Amino acid sequence: MYSTCVFCDGGCTFAVDDADGKVTISPINPAMPAICSKAVNWDEIRSHSGRLMHPLKNVGERGEPQWEEISWEQALDEIAEKLRAVIDEYGPEAVAFSEMPLNHGFGGVTRRFMNHLGTPNYITALDLCMGNTAQVHRATYGWFTSANWQVADCIVYFGQNRGPELWPREYLNLKAALARGAKLIVVDPRLTETAELADYHLRINYGTDAALALGWINVIIDEGLYDHVFVAESTIGFEDLAERAGEYPPERVAEICGITADEVRETARVYAGSEAALIPWGATADMQRNSTSLLRGQCILRAICGFLNKSELVYGPASDISLSERLYDYSALSQSQKDKQIGSENYPLFSFKGNALYDEAMRNAGFGFTADIMASSCMAHPSSLFAAMRGEGPYPVKAFFSVANNTVMSYANMQGIVDALMNQYLVVTFEVNMTPTAQLSDYVLPGDMWMERDTVGPMFDIAPIMTTSNSIVEPPVDCRCWYDVVKGLADRMGIGDAFPWCNAHELFDYRFAALGTTWEQARSAPAHPGKTPAFGTFLTPSGKVELSSSVLAALGYDPLPYYEEPTDPLANDDMPFEIFAGAREPANYNTNFHQIGFLREREPEPRLFIHPDDASSCNVVEGAWVRVATGHGAIDLVAHLDPCQKPGTLRVPHGWWKPETEPGLAAGLSSALIHNDGMLFSDEAWNLDPEQGLANLRGGICARVGVL
Ligand code: SF4
Repeated sequence: MYSTCVFCDGGCTFAVDDADGKVTISPINPAMPAICSKAVNWDEIRSHSGRLMHPLKNVGERGEPQWEEISWEQALDEIAEKLRAVIDEYGPEAVAFSEMPLNHGFGGVTRRFMNHLGTPNYITALDLCMGNTAQVHRATYGWFTSANWQVADCIVYFGQNRGPELWPREYLNLKAALARGAKLIVVDPRLTETAELADYHLRINYGTDAALALGWINVIIDEGLYDHVFVAESTIGFEDLAERAGEYPPERVAEICGITADEVRETARVYAGSEAALIPWGATADMQRNSTSLLRGQCILRAICGFLNKSELVYGPASDISLSERLYDYSALSQSQKDKQIGSENYPLFSFKGNALYDEAMRNAGFGFTADIMASSCMAHPSSLFAAMRGEGPYPVKAFFSVANNTVMSYANMQGIVDALMNQYLVVTFEVNMTPTAQLSDYVLPGDMWMERDTVGPMFDIAPIMTTSNSIVEPPVDCRCWYDVVKGLADRMGIGDAFPWCNAHELFDYRFAALGTTWEQARSAPAHPGKTPAFGTFLTPSGKVELSSSVLAALGYDPLPYYEEPTDPLANDDMPFEIFAGAREPANYNTNFHQIGFLREREPEPRLFIHPDDASSCNVVEGAWVRVATGHGAIDLVAHLDPCQKPGTLRVPHGWWKPETEPGLAAGLSSALIHNDGMLFSDEAWNLDPEQGLANLRGGICARVGVL
């Protein structure tokens, strides 16, 4: 039997053997031993003493909780009653959800519940990480690309660092590609393990990746290195692209990026001259001020160089499997409610409004629905939603569910999100630990973990397969799966008919019926492929690869990529450094695992990376506690003097809190308000990627350092 780890988004699948009453896990493919220490130590992580074991009700003040253990019946009854009160007074759109489907394993059911309840106000952490990439890919190809590592002869990483503890499957694929002679280009200001393997390491200035992509396009078009046949037959907008790329000659790009013009030219030639080059997805391309343009630039490079459907596979939705889209049941939500989606006026690309632009393309390709690719196509705008929760929106939002997602720590302007939760009538968190978000809740519902539940994918629409994952052990007696919680609430809210499946296995049978099988039959294999459109089917409005995007143009954006220098209107003269945040350390994952002993030992404190010369100019020594301040906020970190850090820059870790410290708002939510990088960044318009509306968490923000 097989199980899939979701301790992180690597999604490693392994074989499980429970003979003799002892569970052991081993790689599915012994030649590809992709399992990191988190999965190996799964039992220690699930059995941690801080794990939530029972439903909790806050009988104290919001933010200074006094927890009382209650039954599931009482929790669901009271939550339903309060939900009804909010809907009666403010309408169903006053209810919002923030979730990470991967973490709870039941993608689709939350949207179904919301659609039948009547609210469009959904956000997901996927919008910061891959989900947003998928939307930008969609604007170019109509779908998201998947890497074909087997044929790749040139790999380009924009900022990613891979290793045995950082997406081991991809790390092994990279090593195999290098062993057969593939070239590696790493674009990263940092000196990382992956950069050490590179043939070319471009240490560009933080956040200038989009300019580099435009420089490469310039060289490739100027020197005629593109695939003339593919461009002529399968793309639109090449002339406009060539004109735009002409604005980015290597000399200009070199100046922006802080490298040489020869480096721009040579690496562009290596990339374009490959048989099958690959730009793997990486979160570094997300969360930049120029994120959309960088992602568009990457998409265009893949297309004009002829790599689509060689090293970069563009599948499309499968026609014969039960996509999560069909589970969402968007038809249950009226157009007038969809039109109320918060933020869609100013940031429509990821909203219902943006998604509707693909309707015709989907119909033309024979699909009766418009896929919500990676759960991020029909979203509210996060910053606008938090503002509405604070009472600064078009209408009040008064009930908030945080589902397997530590919402308050996941976005820019953390203090603003805290204020948003403080202004709610009802806050419910479904979690496994008492996170800072849970600490601000009225009810905390204990969830199961991946090794304790059976699961069926896709959890969001991306790959044309259905997947299974088997439970290894039983969950603690009072911890439930998310489907049971949704079903319990739906029954109480009078929408139980939309959830006719008594339990998760009945739901799985419904989903596998599309493939003519059942959960019991399907569970013995980890993946079941579906029928995908023929290669060369591009589900864009034009049916071609859109080098100049008709979707972006229709929404009032520049249809071509560009580079705009990030600005920081909050900077002042005593901020000599440029800050870089968002990098994930292997010992944790986003905001998780700080309470797990063997992982915490590897990274005991939140570290600031600073060049020794810069440290000396601020009288900072190794191991000193320092305060890093931007114009928006400040956090405390331990200085680590690193000669590899670019002079003039500071690297700040993502997602730090200390679960062992005092909970509650007065104590900084277990120190999250003291250490989390979300305190440093504004979510005002000047710091957002204009098309995506998501905050820059990377470069261009000014900061100072002072010893505490
Ligand atoms: S990299 Fe590790 S934590 Fe992430 S999915 Fe794979 S085994 Fe799990």
